[in-house]
Amino acid sequence: MASSETQSILVVGGGMSGMTAAIEAAEAGWQVYLVERGPYLGGRVAQLNKYFPKLCPPYCGLEINFRRMRQNPNVRFFTMAEVQKISGRSGDFDVTLSLNPRYVNEKCTCCGKCAEACAMEIDNPFNYGMDKIKAAYLPHDMAFPMRYVLDPALVKSGEAQAVQASCPYGAIELDMAPRSMELKVGSVVWATGWEPYDARKLDLYGFGRQPNVITNVMMERLASQNGPTGGKIVRPSDGAEPKTIGFIQCAGSRDENHLGFCSGICCLASLKQATYIREQYPDAKIYIFFIDIRATDRLEDFFSKVKQDENIEFFKGKVAKITEDPGTKNPILRVENTATEQLMEIQVDLAVLATGMQPSTQTTKIPFEGAAYDDYGFVTAGSAGVVGAGCARTPAGVTEAVADGTGAALKAIQAIARR
Ligand SMILES: Cc1cc2nc3c(=O)[nH]c(=O)nc-3n(C[C@H](O)[C@H](O)[C@H](O)COP(=O)(O)OP(=O)(O)OC[C@H]3O[C@@H](n4cnc5c(N)ncnc54)[C@H](O)[C@@H]3O)c2cc1C
Ligand code: SF4
Ligand code: SF4
Repeated sequence: MASSETQSILVVGGGMSGMTAAIEAAEAGWQVYLVERGPYLGGRVAQLNKYFPKLCPPYCGLEINFRRMRQNPNVRFFTMAEVQKISGRSGDFDVTLSLNPRYVNEKCTCCGKCAEACAMEIDNPFNYGMDKIKAAYLPHDMAFPMRYVLDPALVKSGEAQAVQASCPYGAIELDMAPRSMELKVGSVVWATGWEPYDARKLDLYGFGRQPNVITNVMMERLASQNGPTGGKIVRPSDGAEPKTIGFIQCAGSRDENHLGFCSGICCLASLKQATYIREQYPDAKIYIFFIDIRATDRLEDFFSKVKQDENIEFFKGKVAKITEDPGTKNPILRVENTATEQLMEIQVDLAVLATGMQPSTQTTKIPFEGAAYDDYGFVTAGSAGVVGAGCARTPAGVTEAVADGTGAALKAIQAIARR
């Protein structure tokens, strides 16, 4: 007979799909361990400004999940944790977790005194390095759990003691060390999501060399009130308001040298971001360069609405190259308009690369011998008791990621029941 331990479920990845899988299984009465690598739950969705198509803030959906999790004793979650090893078989897995130190314990009240006392700054990971934060920091203002983190570089530095002394609550523990933990579970849901495709690999687009060429994930942060500019969309080179903006679709996608597949959401993300620009700059001119616009089923309405805007021009054509005007630092886009067969050079104040979603499993594999992937690195059904969910399984928007998380919870329960 199965023990209560082997009736437990391990969910890896605390984004929308992983949280959904964890909560759904817990609410069905199963014991769940949720393991997240970062310092907070919510995944990439926490970094979005608004959701398409309703354009509501992502925190509505996230907060509901945090509440469900707080209320359910069946879910035990670990942040700053990773899976080191999985062995065994469906229905009976042995798992080793590594728990990384946060250097801040549960006494933290988020008073911010440690950040005030800290001189060291680091690139802000939440804003994709567009600004700096103190090395003693809250990951973002809505973080769950709401608790500060100390960067390991600060802990090793000469100012660590002073930062510790600044905490009135005794919440800083400089001697926290990495720990291992062993678990026995009956099934595993792998929901480690996606990473933005590295735009530096798109050499002809100049990302990383030209300040006014940014990516779509950076645009989400620029437009967010808790972003690097307080929500004002400006050019990185000089902080000026952009009057002309170009969106470059399929930047590295549907291209066998980069991501061979269509991510399915980056057309919609650009349409959504065009509305962010329109809200702030009613007269700005927006160009969208596309191969074809992918807006399926009900999302077609959203596309139709955006298309009605006279100041948004859709060019059917692939941008071949982006150079920079040395005086203005304006990106110059070289593009063939396939409708007119004209070769054009269009100068804009700001260029946004609509890069795709690369599965995290392309860089961090599942530490289990039976794991299986498709040609692009997404987890497949052949993974012997390890169920893929959300963007670790296929590119998806939030609605699909949530549905997929629910489906994964059911498969995880079945794997235990079949034993
Ligand atoms: C520019 C852009 C805009 C978008 N806008 C929208 C929108 O408006 N509406 C919409 O529906 N969708 C949008 N999306 C898609 C949306 O971001 C995804 O649907 C959503 O993030 C999928 O959630 P997920 O849980 O599968 O993955 P993620 O959000 O990536 O979550 C995965 C989690 O797993 C963690 N993790 C990764 N590796 C490990 C590991 N080895 N161990 C433990 N934890 C790990 C990560 O830290 C993360 O917390 C957008 C995407 C892009 C690129
Ligand atoms: S660690 Fe201490 S000083 Fe820093 S925010 Fe938390 S309670 Fe305040
Ligand atoms: S969703 Fe649009 S931009 Fe993204 S890969 Fe597909 S066609 Fe290209």
